Amino acid sequence: MRKKIVVGNWKMNNSVAESIDLATEIAEKVGSGILGCEVGIAPSFLAIHEVGKVIEWSDIKLTGQNCHYENDGAFTGEVSARMLAAAGCSYVILGHSERRQYFGDTNIIVNRKVKKALEEGLKVILCVGETLEERERGVTESIITGQVVEGLSGVSDISNLVIAYEPVWAIGTGKTATSAQAQEVHASIRATVASLYGEQASEHLRIQYGGSVKPSNAVELFGMPDIDGGLIGGASLNTADFMAIVMAAC
Ligand code: PEP
Repeated sequence: MRKKIVVGNWKMNNSVAESIDLATEIAEKVGSGILGCEVGIAPSFLAIHEVGKVIEWSDIKLTGQNCHYENDGAFTGEVSARMLAAAGCSYVILGHSERRQYFGDTNIIVNRKVKKALEEGLKVILCVGETLEERERGVTESIITGQVVEGLSGVSDISNLVIAYEPVWAIGTGKTATSAQAQEVHASIRATVASLYGEQASEHLRIQYGGSVKPSNAVELFGMPDIDGGLIGGASLNTADFMAIVMAAC
């Protein structure tokens, strides 16, 4: 039985003070030893240290939104996996479509980051997803298979991996994939992983759905057999909405 996982991706939102307030509110609701699922929050790098302090007592997993593929050096503006681990992060989100779209994260770069993050002891949430144009061209499956295969190239152990299926056309647009559309892709990701790592590893792998998840659609999405929780953008900035989504998974 896979434990569901819900992670709030705050993106480039909230000052440090606002992040502390939001994290404090969420920690009070998530508490410690209460929920049957995993919950994470991914604040901005600037706020990560302070947020880490206010959630430390709770079960919330501190999560990075991205990292570099080197541990240190002349990479102005970047943050390494080692730094995130030292700051108390358990997870890091890699290959988010906004990183792929605006910051040039190709499958090759994402793969380097995945390998480094795992090496540094972080758990990785590897994001994959097709654009609207790719869906309309009927190449959804091949795009996602490519992102999974190339993203995991050279990775031998996937016990610290979560995959997030996030159709790009559903992120921040208010358009959600139907539960049937999402389930179809999740099942195909699990089949790809089975072909790479075997049935048992693929059955243990958690695959989150992301893309305009809201309290109103979370129960149906999380009720699908291959959907193991969610990666939540907009709705994670509001405690009541985020917690309603968490409760749909727990
Ligand atoms: C995301 O950024 O990962 C995301 C799914 O955003 P939203 O929930 O706002 O669509």
